[in-house]
Amino acid sequence: MRVTNALSVDVEDWFQVGAFEGVIERAKWNGISARVESNVDAILALFADAGVKATFFSLGWIAERHPALMRRIAEAGHEIASHGYDHARVFTFDRAAFGEDIRKARAILEDATGQRVAGYRAPSFSIDARTPWAFEELAQQGYTYSSSVAPVAHDHYGWPEAPRFAFRPVAGADLIELPVTTARLGGRRVAAGGGGFFRVLPYSFSRWAIRQVNRDEKRPAVFYFHPWEIDPDQPRVPAAPLRSRLRHYTGLKTMGGKLKALLGDFAWDRIDTVAAHEAARARDYPVAEIDKRGLAA
Ligand SMILES: [Zn+2]
Repeated sequence: MRVTNALSVDVEDWFQVGAFEGVIERAKWNGISARVESNVDAILALFADAGVKATFFSLGWIAERHPALMRRIAEAGHEIASHGYDHARVFTFDRAAFGEDIRKARAILEDATGQRVAGYRAPSFSIDARTPWAFEELAQQGYTYSSSVAPVAHDHYGWPEAPRFAFRPVAGADLIELPVTTARLGGRRVAAGGGGFFRVLPYSFSRWAIRQVNRDEKRPAVFYFHPWEIDPDQPRVPAAPLRSRLRHYTGLKTMGGKLKALLGDFAWDRIDTVAAHEAARARDYPVAEIDKRGLAA
């Protein structure tokens, strides 16, 4: 049986990425020319051609300034979910401030489309062992699912001990977490759910990894990318560190072709749909208790 995978786009503009946060202050964002509308419109066309639906995790900051874009996404049959207000990472908040951030972002998104927001993705996959309260807050605010954990070691993010597939992070709550996809390679976990890895490595690596997850493990992949990743003409940020620039600008020209191949080679749907299927298989992994006892997965 063909497994249906979860497709997602993290809707933020080229200047809002973690790679540039040291050189482009939030206070300057308003004065920078936006490219998010044309990039998302190109993605909508790509998805329409491939006949796939997806989830668009959108910043409240973007939805405030581009409400018509949010409506176009929703009217095309895609899911609008939350990526927080302005891309501050979860571990920079305490619980109260996190609660405020996700409440504010959700209200803006729901105002723009008139549809309920059920899902959340933390900026830079920043829910990890430091923030056991984040899942409790999401459950309390009535979210159905989160896709905020990268169960892998990485220099900017990651929670390598977390489960690789759907889990229930809060005892007694319906909330499920759908971690971004990793593959097993030589006894190690490697990131395989999109981002820089998809752009920089040959497409055959991603195809192999998603096939392994679907065929051998019989689970859906959770894949993500950003609107700026299909935009080779975006302004360059020469002041950013070399490593950040290499990571950000590599593979922008070939991204569109790789995405087309990916959409054609596998079955895809919105994350809320995949989450509903995965709910029955989600294991219990009560993060607050596990963290206190110091247990790993
Ligand atoms: Zn993001």
